Amino acid sequence: MITVNARGTFSPEGPFKLTTIERRDLEPHDVLIEIKYAGICHSDIHTARGEWGPVNYPLVPGHEIAGIVTQVGSEVTKYAVGDRVGVGCMVDSCRECDKCREGEEQYCLNGNTGTYAATDRYGQYTQGGYSTHIVVTEDFVVRIPDGIELDAAAPLLCAGITTYSPLRHWGIVPGKKVAVVGLGGLGHMAVKFAHAMGAEVAVLSQTLKKKEDGLRLGADQYYATSDPETFKKLAGSFDLIVNTVSAKIDISAYLSLLAVDGTLVNVGAPPEPLPVHVFSLIPHRRSFAGSAIGGIRETQEMLDFCAEHHITPEIEVISANQIDEAWERVLASDVRYRFVIDISTMGNE
Ligand code: NAP
Ligand code: ZN
Ligand code: ZN
Repeated sequence: MITVNARGTFSPEGPFKLTTIERRDLEPHDVLIEIKYAGICHSDIHTARGEWGPVNYPLVPGHEIAGIVTQVGSEVTKYAVGDRVGVGCMVDSCRECDKCREGEEQYCLNGNTGTYAATDRYGQYTQGGYSTHIVVTEDFVVRIPDGIELDAAAPLLCAGITTYSPLRHWGIVPGKKVAVVGLGGLGHMAVKFAHAMGAEVAVLSQTLKKKEDGLRLGADQYYATSDPETFKKLAGSFDLIVNTVSAKIDISAYLSLLAVDGTLVNVGAPPEPLPVHVFSLIPHRRSFAGSAIGGIRETQEMLDFCAEHHITPEIEVISANQIDEAWERVLASDVRYRFVIDISTMGNE
């Protein structure tokens, strides 16, 4: 076992405290990663606060991990010491079911292993990236292209892949009309990707406060959902709506904005049910769907796409003693547009 420093929360209310956690000794296919940066995802907050179900404490969140390989197991072939790598929301899966074989480990029929708050195949409770090191099997590690700085790479491991994957799955190509609901961590990446894929992109935000940013990030239009005129004006407009909102919204109102055969895909994961009026679906053969992160192969494809198209998230780098403050700002929709923890500050008072 390797004992490493981490920031953990000891109850649903927090606050974060400096603590230590154990990482397993390297198995033949494991790599040891020195974590340089970890992004803060709204899922960290839902999970640590017990909104999605009970978890064990202390809990060390963090599934947007960017760092450097510092040691490799005896049979590792994909990575070498010094490589720049990332780890996202999963650290393992069964590797045998149809979904795993298709490279969609996020839909593993036997359940994938979450980077934190899960029990891994060794019986250990997993702890995430708000820590200095992590041990991960090489198959769940991706390579960060040279053109992408490690701090900016971190959010791609969750916010990036979670928005890239549905845009690809629902065939976004030039000419398609896409709306992104919520301009936070996921939302701002969805805007960048949809724009890069050639779509006409609209942002649907609570207010017009971030309109200039939204247009600069690649949106063609920007609307406030607090204005009832928005829903009248945009009725029947979009081929795909990507809902990234972390809270309950009136989903039927948003479904009415879809064109015939359009899809609203929910990536936002509020704990409450989202009731749907079927008459917002039936007359236009619309679909209401969900999507979870993306597989390892697709995550690598997304990183390479980012390098090729010069796409990186807008980040605010914080030190490890500012996590509580950053979480409050995320909850207040005051994130521009992803907080990233500089792990070299782990020991700071
Ligand atoms: P975030 O940075 O907090 O962004 C969420 C955005 O939603 C906010 O910036 C805000 O945008 C909007 N919003 C928040 N509260 C709202 C409310 N009450 N009504 C209307 N709009 C509201 O969060 P994130 O990290 O992007 O994550 C978003 C959601 O996706 C979370 O639920 C997270 O758990 C989930 N998630 C799912 C997956 C997956 O695999 N499906 C992966 C990662 C995250 P505006 O200020 O523009 O209105
Ligand atoms: Zn996440
Ligand atoms: Zn599987």
